[in-house]
Amino acid sequence: MKRALCTVFALAFALACSKGSETAAPADGGAGDSSAGSSFAAGAPRPKLVVVIVIDQFRADYLTRFEAYFGDSGFKRIARQGAIWTGHYGHYATYTGPGHALILSGSYPYLNGISANKFFNPETRRSEAMVFDAEAEIVGVKKTDPDMDVSPRNFVGSTVGDELALVTARQSRTIALATKGRGAILLGGRLGKAYFMNDDTGEMTTSTYYSSVLPNWVVGWNSKKLADAQFGKAWERALPEAAYAISGPDDAKAEGDSKGLGKTFPHKVNGKLGAPGPDYYEAFVQTPFANDYELDFARAAIENEQLGGRGVTDLLAISLSAIDLAGHTFGPSSQEVQDIVVRVDKQLGAFFDWVYARLGAENVVTVVTADHGATPVPEQMKAIGFEAGRIKKKTIGDAVEAALVARFGAPPASKEPPREGEKDKAAKGERWVVALEDPHVFLNRAAIAAKKLDPQEVEQAAGRAASGIKGFGGYFTRSQLVQGSVPPTPLALSILRSYHAPHGGDVVLWTLPFYFWGKYGEKDVGSTHGTFYRYDSEVPVLLSGPGVRAGRYGVREMVDLAPTLSHLLGVVAPAASEGNIVPIF
Ligand SMILES: [Zn+2]
Repeated sequence: MKRALCTVFALAFALACSKGSETAAPADGGAGDSSAGSSFAAGAPRPKLVVVIVIDQFRADYLTRFEAYFGDSGFKRIARQGAIWTGHYGHYATYTGPGHALILSGSYPYLNGISANKFFNPETRRSEAMVFDAEAEIVGVKKTDPDMDVSPRNFVGSTVGDELALVTARQSRTIALATKGRGAILLGGRLGKAYFMNDDTGEMTTSTYYSSVLPNWVVGWNSKKLADAQFGKAWERALPEAAYAISGPDDAKAEGDSKGLGKTFPHKVNGKLGAPGPDYYEAFVQTPFANDYELDFARAAIENEQLGGRGVTDLLAISLSAIDLAGHTFGPSSQEVQDIVVRVDKQLGAFFDWVYARLGAENVVTVVTADHGATPVPEQMKAIGFEAGRIKKKTIGDAVEAALVARFGAPPASKEPPREGEKDKAAKGERWVVALEDPHVFLNRAAIAAKKLDPQEVEQAAGRAASGIKGFGGYFTRSQLVQGSVPPTPLALSILRSYHAPHGGDVVLWTLPFYFWGKYGEKDVGSTHGTFYRYDSEVPVLLSGPGVRAGRYGVREMVDLAPTLSHLLGVVAPAASEGNIVPIF
């Protein structure tokens, strides 16, 4: 009983529990003294700044695989001084949006609303980004892609940064940044400010959700033109070529060649253009140069927003997008991924040096983690004897369409005229399959209603047809998921946790290991992520700072991170947080 009390009330009773009682012993074999516990009981000052680094697509094994090439001030410093564990994402759709929404909220997609990167909106009849907001606009230059108009409005609940703001009369500031919009926005919560790169200009911008104009310091920072400064440069290996033997040949099977980068070192970064432009910025964001760009912006944010300098705990969240983009192009076993991981360790080391020198290491809580892992390149797996592959959307769409027409007849003509962008539909007529956004199949609900069909029967017929395609393991229907009637397996539970009914499809398909579909299934090169499997769902978690007991804490659910961080900071956990507190105190 005493042990339970000491755990539950660690905040108030840390001193009492630490005195002469066997219950004070660290539960997980950590080396620290539990009396260091909370800042309240120990009388330690609250941290000035929380720095949350999310490395997009940083698989758990990257830390161990490339350990020999890391310096002392990056990952190894946080691991040495702090808590380290493997974080497991318990939801199926391990994509950037869902991962980033979960990290600082501690809630699964079914609850936080960010269940995928894209979904089909039956009202607008368009597949739109989960962070798209018709009421928001990107600030500054805007091209035709409406998905650049973003906000956190679809995010339900609160984040650690929101809770810090709520208990300080909004004095605490959260600044989130990334080159990808969703990476920044979902870490910023509802009350923070998010900055991301405008793909058309290479400058950092924001959404009118936060402000209709950029702060002067952002305008000033943009005038440095840091993206343009790398135009025409080459991305070379940071280590001697022999060090890359653990990643295999440079020109490995099915590596991509994106925006003129080529498949092998040195990678020329110019987007095949004569001067900086959108294709160049798309090449730039896949290189280590983009991490320097982001970390430079982060320093400017700390200086100009006086983060950590105003008597309250502020939060700076940085999502480093480059490894994800390089991973998609070259695959997780490529020399390019090895190189960019080794470089990010150095880049972060220099950044930590700067932050700790400015604020004092004892005043900074540092978190390093990732939003998801990465799938091996299927062609490389096939070549060594695994069952692996890409499933094309057309194969899925055709199989489902044929099965539904055979069973229920053609869908009746819609009474609504085709909208802009629906020329195909006007030519081909109505279809049963209206959109494919992995892992969801969206069916023509208006046609199901018009024909007075039982939705569950149609969903099952569609699921059976699709899951007969090689590479799929099975399916769940919308009716089944809404009722929560799934078998008691971890995989089924992961799909349930990923299913947010307002944005959910009519059928959810699950693949076998090493198979995938969607945007990267359409290509014949590169790789992706987005499944239940461990290569996609396991990431590292490193956490250091005042009050953290150094040690290794095994494997924990990623929903545990936000409540653990909240507890460390002495604030209430985010509203919809579902995790447990990792005993790092
Ligand atoms: Zn991602």
